[in-house]
Amino acid sequence: MAGKSFFIDTTRCTACRGCQVACKNWNQNGASMTKNTGTHQNPPDLDGNTFKLVRFSEVEANGKVDWYFFADQCRHCLEPPCKDAIGGYESEGAVQDEATGAVYYTAKAKEAPFDEVRSSCPYDIPRQGADGLVVKCTMCIDRISNGLIPACVKICPTGAMNFGERDAMLAMANERLEKLKGKYSKAQLLDADQVRVIYLVVDDPRKYWKNAIASSNHGIVHKLAARFLRKPGHDQAQSAVVG
Ligand code: SF4
Ligand code: SF4
Ligand code: SF4
Repeated sequence: MAGKSFFIDTTRCTACRGCQVACKNWNQNGASMTKNTGTHQNPPDLDGNTFKLVRFSEVEANGKVDWYFFADQCRHCLEPPCKDAIGGYESEGAVQDEATGAVYYTAKAKEAPFDEVRSSCPYDIPRQGADGLVVKCTMCIDRISNGLIPACVKICPTGAMNFGERDAMLAMANERLEKLKGKYSKAQLLDADQVRVIYLVVDDPRKYWKNAIASSNHGIVHKLAARFLRKPGHDQAQSAVVG
């Protein structure tokens, strides 16, 4: 499988949030008004101004409290359901770049009902900006198509974030996994054969974030199937969605 991928090693993440800020900076996204809710996670969720969010989880293990950090972003799925959801309404609303595999939206994505787009994503990533545009991480397509690495990877001071050719990232991820398996029996790569953003965790992924691994979203499968059924000439697409 050609194209690019990220490898995100959560064991190296210190939650400095450099990646979150670099993403805002590169995309010229403003800040969102938030309140202190008793956690260092801020803002509380992805939003129209926040395409990358370092999630904090307090977990208890062996009688002591630990923190897990999860730098959440679009996974750039190999077969992106959000592209199908948008494409059912506007064929030019979502793009999957052939060279890199990056999935990004155009202004036309807002022609699709936003709740349908958001619920199509097994990682709950798409958000809506104040201007109504549907937004998320673009894999920094404007940077990588000019030979640069994504802003979030460039800034990461610990080596938690990595980016490059997919084969190289998979090799790096598997090598690191082998090293950690001896110490952490639950060490694993998340959905590595389905996505271009490959996370390494050392515990139950749902302890990091409820959508760390893909959720099966039956609601959208049925909605998409119904829509394809109503449209002539979509037999093949329909079987791909419900199959
Ligand atoms: Fe689309 Fe969600 Fe996959 Fe990103 S993670 S490509 S938003 S389905
Ligand atoms: Fe943000 Fe670019 Fe990183 Fe995506 S790749 S999270 S858009 S900085
Ligand atoms: Fe973690 Fe790197 Fe992001 Fe800092 S920049 S929060 S170390 S992934």
